[in-house]
Amino acid sequence: MLETLRAEKNIFYLINRYSVRIPQIEAEVLLSHALNCAREELYLNNGAVDDKTFKLCEALIERRLSGEPLQYIIGHAEFMGMDFIVNKDTFIPRPETEVLVKEVLRYAEYNIRSMKILDLCTGSGNIATSLAKSLPCAKTFAADISQSALETASHNASIHGVDKRINFCKGDLFKALPIDKDLKFDIIVCNPPYVRNDELGVLQKEVTFEPRVALDGGHDGLDFYRRIASDALHYLRKNGALLIEIGADQSEVIKAIFNSTGLFETYKVTKDFSNIDRVVELRPKFTL
Ligand code: GLN
Repeated sequence: MLETLRAEKNIFYLINRYSVRIPQIEAEVLLSHALNCAREELYLNNGAVDDKTFKLCEALIERRLSGEPLQYIIGHAEFMGMDFIVNKDTFIPRPETEVLVKEVLRYAEYNIRSMKILDLCTGSGNIATSLAKSLPCAKTFAADISQSALETASHNASIHGVDKRINFCKGDLFKALPIDKDLKFDIIVCNPPYVRNDELGVLQKEVTFEPRVALDGGHDGLDFYRRIASDALHYLRKNGALLIEIGADQSEVIKAIFNSTGLFETYKVTKDFSNIDRVVELRPKFTL
């Protein structure tokens, strides 16, 4: 049976053959990407395709088997119910980061007006774009050190119709911002690289496909938190907030980093779906 399906270049052969090595849903997503159809449509026909398409389908599945993330192969990732273009220059948005966005939205609910938001390490622009979409009065600055990531981020913002309200700036954290002493934000949000150097070598295969610059948090994974703790106050408005994603087990040490500056107090720590501390909200004790 399987051999017949194979001989007639049938995509059901591929789903069957790889079903022990790749979840069926992933095979279906790859095949529907190759055939440019919806997943459900795969089953509407008898599955036979031409030789070229069959080879393409097989090649996509092989890429996935080599560890390449599904999102890079199809070039898209879902975040906050929205579709984002991703590529080798952008970190793949993670579901945990939705907790960060939801916490920003919760803060924004009580602090309406036309807010100014800064998204540091914007990557694919998933945070900046989803915030801009939910907060039509907000003006956002989105910064990243990688020019190619910024290009993808701005493309994503335009797909979602919010590019006019996001100012994309290239540079290392706050250095990306234009020099303007009056430029202050109601919210600074960031999902910084937070992988420790010794963990970089033993990452899950999929993660090794992601840009190192989006992962590498220095020897203890905390470099970005220290830098943000020392500079953020210059860019926060009175009553502003800094909301930052953290890695598993980093909660105590990150609170200590911010406390030791004497400039911030920890306002709230929010857990993710796995009950791991994931987002820290800091409030300035005073403004500069
Ligand atoms: N802001 C992006 C995200 O949260 C990229 C994060 C990063 O590159 N570390 O998905």
